[in-house]
Amino acid sequence: MSSKHRFSVWLSVIWIFIWIFFYILRQNFANAQKDFRPQQNLNTGQHAGDTADFDIISSLSWILDQSQKKYQKTFDLQSDSSFQRYLSDETPFSDQSYKPLDLRPIVSHFTYNKSSKFSLRATAGTAFADMAWAFREHFDKSHKIYIASAYRSYGLQNSLLKNWCEEKRCAEPGSSEHQAWLAVDISVANKNGKTLQMTTWSDYYKRMDENAYKYGFHNTYQKWVDVDGKMAEHRHRRFLGIPFATYLHDQNLTIAEYYKKNKF
Ligand SMILES: [Zn+2]
Repeated sequence: MSSKHRFSVWLSVIWIFIWIFFYILRQNFANAQKDFRPQQNLNTGQHAGDTADFDIISSLSWILDQSQKKYQKTFDLQSDSSFQRYLSDETPFSDQSYKPLDLRPIVSHFTYNKSSKFSLRATAGTAFADMAWAFREHFDKSHKIYIASAYRSYGLQNSLLKNWCEEKRCAEPGSSEHQAWLAVDISVANKNGKTLQMTTWSDYYKRMDENAYKYGFHNTYQKWVDVDGKMAEHRHRRFLGIPFATYLHDQNLTIAEYYKKNKF
């Protein structure tokens, strides 16, 4: 074989290898898109609308990212508009006056008091309505969720803190999950309208504890000040989206523990 022919053969072999390499890269990238970018963005609730276009830089960065933890990639604990935004006195909103754009009154016929007087972000409100229905069904329609509070503005949180709250009970203004329009404080009302508090030994609390994650809700303040930075607040439930709430439930972690563990 002449050297010219040998050169052509090697060139073809190299070309085939390059082709196979980029083919595998493309497959991996498509799978990554499937795993991590569902139609509805897990973090913000917005429909992405962008397509999974292939490009080499994104593909290479995907391969590099594989060394990182899957959940760090999926959950966004830092952006103000993320459903998983971790809020504490030390990690307030970057924009103190943050207000999400997708606010809606809660639409449910299954809460004891009028749900539409309270607002949450749209996705959180829909999930809450599903949870309220399932709760009422479980207790044979004799008990319903009573909403005590949902959204609280920066100003309201400020006055609560000054006039009402014990230390380590309320969040500092600008760091409340209620300001994120993602949190509700709930109790339970029976058939006669008697309000029952979410005490930890009650069936209502246990029911909520074992099922709220299925609707994306999390019990943020359950392990007291040393762990969660706040006193336990059994009536407080915060929306995180189903994947993250399920993960925390399965691992028996609070969001504060997860945050510290992953050192964001
Ligand atoms: Zn609360």
